[in-house]
Amino acid sequence: MFELGIDSAPTVDDIHRGTAVVSRIGEGRDDVERIDLMRALEELKCAAEAAQAMLTAAFDRSQREREARAGVPVERRGRAVASQVALARRESPHRGRQHLGLALVLEELPCTRDAFRAGRITEWRVMLLARETACLSKADRGEVDRRMAGDADVLEAMGDGELVSRAREAVYELDPVSFVERRRRAEADRHVGLRPAPDVMSQLSALLPAKDGVAVWAVLGREADQRRAAGDERSRGQIMADTLVRRMLDPREGERSLPLMINVVVPDSVLLGDDHNFGWIEHYGPVPGDLLREWIATNAEDGVDQWVRRLYVAPATGALVAMDSSARRFEGRLADYLRLRDRGCRTRWCDSPVRHLDHALDHADGGLTSAANGQGVCEHCNYAKQALGWSARPRPGPRHTVETVTPTGHRYLSTAPPLTVAERGLRVDFVMTA
Ligand SMILES: [Zn+2]
Repeated sequence: MFELGIDSAPTVDDIHRGTAVVSRIGEGRDDVERIDLMRALEELKCAAEAAQAMLTAAFDRSQREREARAGVPVERRGRAVASQVALARRESPHRGRQHLGLALVLEELPCTRDAFRAGRITEWRVMLLARETACLSKADRGEVDRRMAGDADVLEAMGDGELVSRAREAVYELDPVSFVERRRRAEADRHVGLRPAPDVMSQLSALLPAKDGVAVWAVLGREADQRRAAGDERSRGQIMADTLVRRMLDPREGERSLPLMINVVVPDSVLLGDDHNFGWIEHYGPVPGDLLREWIATNAEDGVDQWVRRLYVAPATGALVAMDSSARRFEGRLADYLRLRDRGCRTRWCDSPVRHLDHALDHADGGLTSAANGQGVCEHCNYAKQALGWSARPRPGPRHTVETVTPTGHRYLSTAPPLTVAERGLRVDFVMTA
């Protein structure tokens, strides 16, 4: 399919020809061939991911060497590698860091790497193996690799669950102490997350040490059981959810309640009339106008302070869009405008919330503190952008566009989300006094 000599390394053109071959696959001649094609494609996918991992590790080495030659201090070297891997793979920097981590671990798992390159194990299973052996010394990790992947036929026959439990057994046998260390490290990763869920719901999650998670669950369950025994008609799950919210938002005795600010952008047509447009809630995303109107009305009935202020007028009039500042930092209404225009980090494929307002073209290089030269970025992307060989600048266009050039000279354009909601946006600040 690639028409290569045995010794020649494939080029990008060779791979494009391979992609063209795969994209011509139709429905297959018969069911036997369909199954055979599916297996062959699965092997191709695994081998392709293995090749990406090996390229990633080599790229990391080469970038670090380049930075060393340029005099970048050792602790700052390689910090933008994951971002470049992510852009190349059209994924978030978070995923880029995972890919880089896996690529580096794979160098210490040679048997697993061979099976991966031969298309016999998926990237996911390689990741599971890397995760299970993360706590081990290099030597012990090599030993688990030999036991698990020394025989590729055995490795290939294992499912996810079997692979994890056999790896755990081997790890425990080689280094029981590391299990304790690992638990401690896992506890350090505790956090709370919020994701939009279907039907304008949200999924609030918490990753907790087992004892804390079990205790919170038990307290909510006990409250639900007591209330249901007393005749509450809500389901057990509903009472648990309501209790969680009430306990978080109600002030405890003796505590002063603090106002809570939730930023909402709505076109005035949604706020005043009944059109079917959406509003947008910071840290959540789009919300239908009727729900927002209901929320605002309920807040008013409950006596919750809220006010509406005009953030900026139609772009046609240009009042705020053209606004710039002589200040070094983005502040006030210009800062509000950038956060609401960009909504999330402006790096392509990065969905993180905005943490910093950044000059696309550096202030030191003459970049203005203006709406055109400003962009919202997450912490990680702001950090990556400061590495050796990165540059960015705004590009003219109907929607706000920033061009970023990475150290390899690859160019990526990032365009602000459509302005439909924010266009004639009013901002509603709900001050919820809990
Ligand atoms: Zn980002």
